[in-house]
Amino acid sequence: MEKTAAITTEPGAQDEPAGAQSGGRSSSGEPPDVRLNALRKAYGDVVAVDGIDLEVGRGEFFTLLGPSGSGKTTTLRMIAGFEVPDTGKVELAGSDVTGIPPYDREVNTVFQDYALFPHMTVGENVEYGMRVQRVAKDERRKRASDALDMVRLSGYEARKPSELSGGQRQRVALARAIVNRPRVLLLDEPLGALDLKLREQMQVELKGIQGEVRITFIYVTHDQDEALTMSDRIAVFNEGRVEQVGRPADIYEQPANDFVTGFVGASNLLERDGARITVRPEKIRLLESGDDGSGMHTERGVIRDVAYAGMMTRYLVDLDAGGEVLVVRQNLETSSTEALEQRGRQVTVGWRPEHSVAVTEKTRREDPQ
Ligand code: ADP
Ligand code: MG
Repeated sequence: MEKTAAITTEPGAQDEPAGAQSGGRSSSGEPPDVRLNALRKAYGDVVAVDGIDLEVGRGEFFTLLGPSGSGKTTTLRMIAGFEVPDTGKVELAGSDVTGIPPYDREVNTVFQDYALFPHMTVGENVEYGMRVQRVAKDERRKRASDALDMVRLSGYEARKPSELSGGQRQRVALARAIVNRPRVLLLDEPLGALDLKLREQMQVELKGIQGEVRITFIYVTHDQDEALTMSDRIAVFNEGRVEQVGRPADIYEQPANDFVTGFVGASNLLERDGARITVRPEKIRLLESGDDGSGMHTERGVIRDVAYAGMMTRYLVDLDAGGEVLVVRQNLETSSTEALEQRGRQVTVGWRPEHSVAVTEKTRREDPQ
């Protein structure tokens, strides 16, 4: 939660991106920056992308989130033009680009492995594309310098990639990708090679940079925290299909089905009164004796397992009415010894009725999406 708060103070982050609420369509009626229509791609027997419809609005930070092999990269490569769909259509700003080669699309891609030229300096790397396009030297310098400024790497022009940290290299790759101001930037797990601390720092920076450059970002990750932290909207991928599209809070608090529930957070699925429900771990309270949990739905159970994790403790509770729930509690005053002593204890857990969400079982649908 702290991370989210930090991000909303970034300049520009308060403004609603055009497509955030309207399913990719801006209020002015202009077409979405990217529209995918019934997109399908198979490799032999493997259906990598199985009928996808998506709309991404101007200036959105849109994330494709899903497990490995769910079709995220293939989708991105079809938007870039590196792959041709078997059927379906890719539109950029209202034009059908399905048969158009990558270099004729207003799209650029940032890969996880940076793909910087090692023998060139940072400045030369960022200017490279413009040199190929024979942009005049002064103009090249100026645009490269602006782009490096944008990724907070001014003064690094003369360095070689080997003289940079992983995070800095990724920012050079980003500068190179935005220097020509593409309409849409595609990013395929760009932070995947960084360690956790740096990755979390770069998540905030990338989001800030996107707010400043106002380029539409389509961002691929398998990391749900990353997706929840950075995105205006998220499409949850599973086996080549989109399970749900929504804002981070929609996806987390109102998951469309049991796949989304389990992939974006702990699933905590329970069967109660013939219905399947889920309650997020931080919404469940372990009631102290004397607290009758008024206004809450309460259940008895036994703490089966305890995991102390510094900032918080995770409790796994077997419920008398059937099923188990993960409960997360901040260690405001609890020591690790006190937390671990809870194992085996009889407890009452409670949650507010509005925090339990009905979840449908995921079934393969006949029609795409
Ligand atoms: P993700 O990026 O979500 O991990 P991909 O789009 O890379 O998923 O892959 C989706 C499925 O398509 C996987 O089963 C993968 O093995 C398969 N696939 C992707 N690219 C190729 C390819 N060039 N040849 C054969 N199979 C592929
Ligand atoms: Mg991939």
